[in-house]
Amino acid sequence: MFPATCLCQKTRRSSAYGDIPLPIGYGQTISQPYIVALMTTLLKPEKDDIVLEVGTGSGYQAAVLSQIVEKVYTVEIIPPLGKAAEKRVNEIGYKNITAKIDDGYFGWEQYAPFDCIIVTAASDHIPPPLVKQLKNGGKMAIPVGRPFQVQKLMVIEKSEQGEIRIKNILPVRFVPLRRKWR
Ligand code: SAH
Repeated sequence: MFPATCLCQKTRRSSAYGDIPLPIGYGQTISQPYIVALMTTLLKPEKDDIVLEVGTGSGYQAAVLSQIVEKVYTVEIIPPLGKAAEKRVNEIGYKNITAKIDDGYFGWEQYAPFDCIIVTAASDHIPPPLVKQLKNGGKMAIPVGRPFQVQKLMVIEKSEQGEIRIKNILPVRFVPLRRKWR
């Protein structure tokens, strides 16, 4: 079971502008804004891009991307988190974000291929379904490594010919990419 602790607005509000990771409930955390910005930049997103995010969390990263690209599809495995994020981004008025509750390990076949894929939870390997759903010429940013240890932030580039190149960016710490909602 996950602790259903939620963002306590009164105590957390003062941290909103800090460059630190913050709890978002259900044992999950949002990355520090520096990492959100870095991952966004590494994708080199363009205005007509279609982007897949794995790990909706609070919806913050999806909101940031939605201001740059044409369309953001985002998948969250913890239902209450995903539903709350969807409600939040809708209420704020982001019109180009579509969310679903599912295991994002398998991407979102219906809308593939994607120009960019961003995975905001750590996996011990690069999920093959996500590589498959990346467009030729596309980029994926993903933390790769063991859960609860330091992982490597990687960028996977698929060339126009479909060849894969992997770049190691820097050490990071993300919550684990889960395989099942328990
Ligand atoms: N990008 C988020 C923060 C992500 S925290 C934000 O901007 O707030 C990582 C999120 O990935 C958590 O919400 C976690 O529940 C989710 N997650 C973990 N495994 C997942 C999976 N297999 N599929 C989809 N989401 C997953």
